[in-house]
Amino acid sequence: MTKGKLIAISAPSGTGKTTIIRKVLLYFPEIAFSVSATTRAKRENEKEGKHYYFISEKEFKKKIKNSEFIEWEKFYDYYYGTFRSEIENAVNNGKSIILEIDVNGALNLKKMYPDAFLIYIVPPSVEELVRRLKNRNTEEKLDLEKRIDRSTMELSLKDKFDYLIENNDLKTATEKIKILIKQIIKKEN
Ligand code: 5GP
Repeated sequence: MTKGKLIAISAPSGTGKTTIIRKVLLYFPEIAFSVSATTRAKRENEKEGKHYYFISEKEFKKKIKNSEFIEWEKFYDYYYGTFRSEIENAVNNGKSIILEIDVNGALNLKKMYPDAFLIYIVPPSVEELVRRLKNRNTEEKLDLEKRIDRSTMELSLKDKFDYLIENNDLKTATEKIKILIKQIIKKEN
């Protein structure tokens, strides 16, 4: 029998990661999605408990104290954390789970779970990334600048990942990730 797999998918903000992951999840209904907690405001198209659990900074800090997160990061001015319960439920039930977390979060996950598979979605270029972030129009100007600055750091860590998938075209990248995940979940380990 194959074990449930932990699959982290990371990429700089604006790479198309969320769109790709949503499409991949529809294709693999048997794979769970790790819903993180965040202190940032909910975007218009997001749903509580589906995309994130939107909580206050006070609640977040309480959860850190109670060891409810296996990893957490302060990212821009907001906190993001992966619930220990989401990961342990999946692992204990032999279910595979996808985590959409930042680059540092993925590398920390690998330290705790060396069997985790880390996928990095690479943007075509920093210029294209900036263009996409600006077009997305979901961030205030200051947030946008912080995201652009952080992308440089995130891109420098891409070679630490197990798999790199280029996103020049959303459809092709999604197909490549589907094929990759199909191979990962079949692995005997
Ligand atoms: P956004 O605000 O665009 O939804 O997410 C910002 C960044 O936080 C993205 O890179 C996203 O993948 C990352 N992120 C979301 N949830 C978590 C989490 O639980 N842990 C970590 N380390 N990063 C997360």
